Amino acid sequence: MRAPVPPILENRETHVFAAADRIVAMDHVRIDDVENALQPAAVMRQLTDPLGCTDMALNYYELEPGDSFAFAYHRHEVQEELFYILSGVATFETEDGPVDVEAGEIVRFPPGEFQRGWNRGGERVTALALGAPLEYGEQVKLRQCDVCETRTDNTLERRSDDGKSVVVALCLECGAETGCWTEGSMPGAVP
Ligand SMILES: [Zn+2]
Repeated sequence: MRAPVPPILENRETHVFAAADRIVAMDHVRIDDVENALQPAAVMRQLTDPLGCTDMALNYYELEPGDSFAFAYHRHEVQEELFYILSGVATFETEDGPVDVEAGEIVRFPPGEFQRGWNRGGERVTALALGAPLEYGEQVKLRQCDVCETRTDNTLERRSDDGKSVVVALCLECGAETGCWTEGSMPGAVP
């Protein structure tokens, strides 16, 4: 017989206690209820704010073949980043070469280490990305610039293109555009 569900699980209101030592209430969200963000991935739901996280970042990803977790081969100055692969195989470009991370595995990148994760396989990748602390510090975003003929640091800009939101990457050396992304799954490998 199914045990009766305590009222605390049934009513969001009851999560807020009047106790003086409890300033912030617990929270929980349904991942599918969170808006899809414009990223180089079919699905990326930013859970940090909906959950009210104050000291860590949490993002949910679904990568179609050719999709990526990030806009660039990048590093964070102060934030460490972990990827828990729930299904499929993610391939991370790292300072030690490509590393495959399979379902049931977690990879951790310390602050200061370059990485970019991809779906190079044929199966959709689902994953959770965790970062702490919440702030990145300085970020370096390396992308191939065809004008500079080398990898350079980039800045990201959100623009409106015919009423559609896009994100573009711009070379910090020469200003050339090195990539452009639209929301949702893009055909082939993302830039
Ligand atoms: Zn350039």
